[in-house]
Amino acid sequence: MLQTGEQLYHALLVELAQANTEQQVYQCKSKFLGRNGSITRLVKQIPTLPLHERAVAGRELNRLKSDAEQAIEKRLRDIIECKKQQQLQQSVVDVTLPGRTPPLGALHPITLTTRNIVSIFAAMGFSVVEGPEIELDFFNFEALNIPKDHPARDMHDTFYIDDEILLRTHTSPVQIRTMQDSKPPLRIICPGKVYRCDSDISHTPMFHQVEGLLVDCSVSLSDLKGVLIQFLHNIFDAHTAVRFRPSFFPFTEPSAEVDIACVMCKGTGCRVCSGTGWLEILGCGMVHPAVFRNVGYDPETVSGFAFGLGVERIAMLLYGINDIRLFFENDIRFLSQFI
Ligand SMILES: [Zn+2]
Repeated sequence: MLQTGEQLYHALLVELAQANTEQQVYQCKSKFLGRNGSITRLVKQIPTLPLHERAVAGRELNRLKSDAEQAIEKRLRDIIECKKQQQLQQSVVDVTLPGRTPPLGALHPITLTTRNIVSIFAAMGFSVVEGPEIELDFFNFEALNIPKDHPARDMHDTFYIDDEILLRTHTSPVQIRTMQDSKPPLRIICPGKVYRCDSDISHTPMFHQVEGLLVDCSVSLSDLKGVLIQFLHNIFDAHTAVRFRPSFFPFTEPSAEVDIACVMCKGTGCRVCSGTGWLEILGCGMVHPAVFRNVGYDPETVSGFAFGLGVERIAMLLYGINDIRLFFENDIRFLSQFI
């Protein structure tokens, strides 16, 4: 019986050496050590032996069984380790590959354009001032020489909160607040949001303006022209043609609108400029004496100019955007182009 046991053990070792998968090892285990396995069956025969042989046979066969179990465990560990090594070799990590960069946000084109505009005026000595978006009728209209019954109010499509409080329709009220709080000379630029009850391809209920104001002694229309031409040549092209057209605003006298040669067709006429070759770009003028009186300045001793421009208008021309509403739809495909 012991001899049979030894033979079975060696047969097991041979089969184990040929087993290359975990499944084959388990099949081998079942064949020799399973409930009907050959070694198991041999162990079950021990009680049939003569009494004096049982102890030796029992000890030797149990040792064989235990060796067989250890051999099976070892083969299993080897196969698993070998499989792991193969996997490691197959999934080689290339440490020279560049890392994955997480997606980065970008500044909104209106922010970029506002910063661009502000930096040009800052280089000319203008400082940035801000004011409230919920404004009193006095600052938005009356102090700017637009009394309650003035027809110019019709141009503004105002959002009223009550009779005296409204959402500012332009950044001009910041001029009044600054002049009330400070003495001349003044050189300020006021970027910010403004609101009008209007919405189509070129209007949104909220948009951005930049207001400028310069007050000093002996300021002339040529100072205004010099500053604005310098600005326009900086933000567009140094050779862009600029023209001043007489216009009307209640808070400036004389008033002008400023056009530049169309950036799309260079002045030859296209759809963007309605065939005129010119694009209206901002409004400006010399500060009206009535506005100076409203803030306690003496129009006989001080003079100044003011101007206002739409940030969306400039951004649309700079980036070639044809619908103002794109700025506020938060479409990431549109916004991610401006880096
Ligand atoms: Zn054009």
